[in-house]
Amino acid sequence: MVVAYENIVRIVKGTILRTNYGTLGASTSTLIYDNGKNILVDVGHYGTRLRLEESLKNVGLSPSDIDYVILTHINWDHCANIDLFEKSEVFLHKRELENGNLFGKEDLATKVFKQSLLDKMKLNPIGTDMFKVTENVYTLNTFGHTIGHVSVLVKTEKGNVIVSGDAIPYYRTIKKGYPDIIFYDKEEAKKSVTKVKELKPAIIIPGHSPPFNENGYVEKDEIEIRLVGDDGEDLVFKLNRVGEGVATGPFG
Ligand SMILES: [Zn+2]
Repeated sequence: MVVAYENIVRIVKGTILRTNYGTLGASTSTLIYDNGKNILVDVGHYGTRLRLEESLKNVGLSPSDIDYVILTHINWDHCANIDLFEKSEVFLHKRELENGNLFGKEDLATKVFKQSLLDKMKLNPIGTDMFKVTENVYTLNTFGHTIGHVSVLVKTEKGNVIVSGDAIPYYRTIKKGYPDIIFYDKEEAKKSVTKVKELKPAIIIPGHSPPFNENGYVEKDEIEIRLVGDDGEDLVFKLNRVGEGVATGPFG
């Protein structure tokens, strides 16, 4: 039996948010239920830690109920909450484990992360393409954005669903042919986008935006931006995918 589409849940909704004060945003964390196993793809960064725990709770789970965690890659925004999942088996590509970096370049934080956090996990390094995690869930080598990036292929009643991480972080990558940000190799990144397209996915759940198919987004996420004001009143902006902006506030 393949996976029912409703058994794929975006536990944390990924965004990209760039401001003149710096870049905000979060990666998508996706829960997949297949044949009695709870699988979580990416775990996000500290800024989404409470959201992650709360959303898991909303579907009746705690981090200790997650059997398998798959890290698409170890850029900080996808992996920093890994310590919540000490009971889970953690899958990531061998190349990423050996040579991946938190910030896309060699740095002290990567060494500390690998030695103090990752090494304490039940690690299961992936060495092959189309590595079978459960009956209907496979990892797919999609190198390029980083040296050992993987996506996740889920066989569902709708067809192939790809959880693409930052190999395809949002819809425009499909049109452009490669992601805007590449830390490792542009040619590899292009091949990875083509590889995903050739699987004719019914839906792509990307690293930093709502799910889409070849015609565009199939879900809309409303993003709320809150500036803390005086007297308990905040200024709240609400934005959605199609670029409609609504300022609501000051707002108590
Ligand atoms: Zn990312």
